[in-house]
Amino acid sequence: MTPAGTRLVKILLTGALPIVGLALLGGLMRGPVWGWAVAALGFLLVVVMQTRRLLMLSAWLDDPDRSASPDAGGAWGEVFLKLARKLRHDALSLAELEAGLRSFREAMDAVPDGLVILDANHQIQWSNRAAGDHLGVRLPRDAGAIIEQLVRTPGFAEYLGSPDGHAPFILQAPAARTRVYAVRAVPLGEKSKLLVSLDVTDARRVEAMRSTFVANVSHELRTPLTVVSGFLEHFTDDGLMTADQRQHFARLMSDQTKRMLSLVDDLLTLSRLESEDAPASEEDVAMDELLAQLLAEAQSLSEGRHAIETSCDGPSLRGNRKELHSAFGNLVSNAIRYTPAGGDIHIEWQRRAGGGAFCVRDSGVGVAAEHLPRLTERFYRVDRGRSRDTGGTGLGLAIVKHILLRHQATLVINSQVGKGSTFRAEFPGWRLPSAR
Ligand code: ADP
Repeated sequence: MTPAGTRLVKILLTGALPIVGLALLGGLMRGPVWGWAVAALGFLLVVVMQTRRLLMLSAWLDDPDRSASPDAGGAWGEVFLKLARKLRHDALSLAELEAGLRSFREAMDAVPDGLVILDANHQIQWSNRAAGDHLGVRLPRDAGAIIEQLVRTPGFAEYLGSPDGHAPFILQAPAARTRVYAVRAVPLGEKSKLLVSLDVTDARRVEAMRSTFVANVSHELRTPLTVVSGFLEHFTDDGLMTADQRQHFARLMSDQTKRMLSLVDDLLTLSRLESEDAPASEEDVAMDELLAQLLAEAQSLSEGRHAIETSCDGPSLRGNRKELHSAFGNLVSNAIRYTPAGGDIHIEWQRRAGGGAFCVRDSGVGVAAEHLPRLTERFYRVDRGRSRDTGGTGLGLAIVKHILLRHQATLVINSQVGKGSTFRAEFPGWRLPSAR
């Protein structure tokens, strides 16, 4: 028998049969009226009981306790039990669904690109956290808002309205206009759109730096090349040039060629420093020897125009000798080039509690405070003419900065216009042998 048939038999046996039996008994003993009266009473009782259970079911469904169903007994008990089981199962599925949705939202919020779903009327349906920073779209505040009314950058509405599949729209951050985003609209389903915004600030900055750099290098090379080519024309055109004049022009050409060579050398040094993360080799560099070498070079560059002193406190510094020599040499040569004749220059290696410092102090022209943060930028010069006249390439301090960075050191500059400057390279303690 099917489960439904078994249940019917059960209901007949427990409900209808006893009533029919009692009614027959009543009818036989007291006549048919009694029989009908007993049957009517019995069925009334059954209806009252069923109604009571129906009310129980209704009350329970209004506020179902999923862990326990009401004890209704019989076939009703089974119904309650099954309903309670189903409700438990549904609640579990709903909790799973909610957990899935939550982790999906968290994942979308972790994506660094901004995402916004728009319907056919460009009304915001959903967005992630990055869209808040990029486009100023924040949920739930902006749900249903029209995106063009939030992002009011000129051209954005036209971009959204134009056919799909074109280049991204370049947008500046709505709040602080310091960041730049590339926004692309991708078709989603029939009529919706997905806006994807990408932070391209750094890429654009690098691109701008690259083109400025190329322009600077071209400019730096163009000037000496123009001079050299002009002199060369004189050499070929003017057969009447005296030997002295020839010698003079040759010397000027040689100066310009040297300038180009030192520019190319500095460019190669910078490029090598940038392409490697760390120096190829390191050793304990004897600072007294290095200072003696720097002093000799400084004296040769100064040609007796400056009073140069050195002082050395501490034995050695761990690092790449060639790179340290190049960085310190640049600082020393700057001190000489930017200090008028008769000035003082002090070169020292100091040992301190937290590490060591290589310091070059001069009594030269000094640098105004507003220039200090930009001094280590490539080709940044306070006085272009003076830099050129003294053989500068505008790359010296950029090289110094790179080398110090590779040695975990920092450059501290103090300067006063007309009084002089101090350039101090501060090294961490672990680069000093005894402190290791
Ligand atoms: P440059 O080849 O022009 O000297 P650097 O990168 O070495 O290039 O220096 C950048 C600029 O910093 C210089 O042009 C100069 O204006 C300034 N500067 C560097 N060192 C000194 C110094 N000791 N005194 C004054 N100005 C300095």
